[in-house]
Amino acid sequence: MANKRDYYEVLGVSRTATPEEVKKAYKKLAKQYHPDLNPDSKTAEENFKEVNEAYEVLSDENSRARYDQFGHNDPGAAGGGFGGGGFGGGGFSGGGGFGSVNDIFESFFGGGFGGGQVDPNAPLRGSDLRADVLINFEEAASGVEKELNISRMESCPKCGGSGAAPGTKRKTCPSCGGSGKTRVAQNTPFGQFQTVRTCGTCNGCGTTVENPCRECGGTGRRRQERTIKVKIPPGVDNGSRLRMAGEGEGGANNGPAGDLYIYIGVRPHKYFRREEDNVLCEFPISFSQAALGAEVEVPTLDGKVKLTIPEGTQTGTTFRMRGRGFPKLRGYGRGDQHVKVKVNTPTHLNDEQKELLRQLGDLPFGDGDDKKGFFGKIFK
Ligand SMILES: [Zn+2]
Ligand SMILES: [Zn+2]
Repeated sequence: MANKRDYYEVLGVSRTATPEEVKKAYKKLAKQYHPDLNPDSKTAEENFKEVNEAYEVLSDENSRARYDQFGHNDPGAAGGGFGGGGFGGGGFSGGGGFGSVNDIFESFFGGGFGGGQVDPNAPLRGSDLRADVLINFEEAASGVEKELNISRMESCPKCGGSGAAPGTKRKTCPSCGGSGKTRVAQNTPFGQFQTVRTCGTCNGCGTTVENPCRECGGTGRRRQERTIKVKIPPGVDNGSRLRMAGEGEGGANNGPAGDLYIYIGVRPHKYFRREEDNVLCEFPISFSQAALGAEVEVPTLDGKVKLTIPEGTQTGTTFRMRGRGFPKLRGYGRGDQHVKVKVNTPTHLNDEQKELLRQLGDLPFGDGDDKKGFFGKIFK
């Protein structure tokens, strides 16, 4: 994220550019970097992806406004980043096409219906996908590699996801003129209403195929089950999200694939709790350990570690073990472990032990002793 270029810079337009200017810049660059025209160029492919991502955000009024406000660190983008697509948004999403609220309103009120056509052969980015993975408390601390089974639509390698037989192209849908929607007049007792429906010929994508690709039957995609290895870094927390670029659903017309977002769940631990990067736990000590002091062995993420209990320790005292917490996901170092000791009051004492404690109770102690302290003040 850190070295991500500004989307306006990517498209080479000013921050005040009109939607038309954004679109124009995008078309020019998408053509320039198109993988078909730059075979085997890794740089062109990267640029192409970058241009598509920038356009996806800047072509939508809402996501552009959000980007203007937050840049690449949009706190509200938890649902799959920018763009209309979001997770699992069916098929063709983003790409400046139809489907946003504005487009629907425009078609209702006559403006823009049939205008602003989608280029039937413009590359479109695939949708993002979401996967969930559950790991142990210890795995969150140490990091872990997991295998995920996902099912995703992938672009047909033969036609690059266009669905058109090699050497042919997709055509603008003749039924809807490329808008993906058709207008239907309905007569009701209140008069005639126009409703807008998804075009039945092209299923809303605005384009059709005359010569379907044989490999995929014209759909441009196939569902594939894939096993993906995920490296989960040490320090992740419940709800952390990882992004694997290009592991989402395949794009259309040689467009880039979407991303895969991995949501991490961490199982609770029997003894430990987590607070930010710190580990919290309770540790029982005996009455005499508390009174006389002791060296105990406390379980930590690194195994058992010695902790010195000073003499005269009260129940509920918390000791800090530096650097025994979670590794910091961003930055260096580790959190701490906070150990709250619980003094076990002895039970099932035999007569001899009881007698010893009674004698102990009669001895004059320091300030902490009830007889001299609290009660001593009352009964003066
Ligand atoms: Zn195909
Ligand atoms: Zn259509």
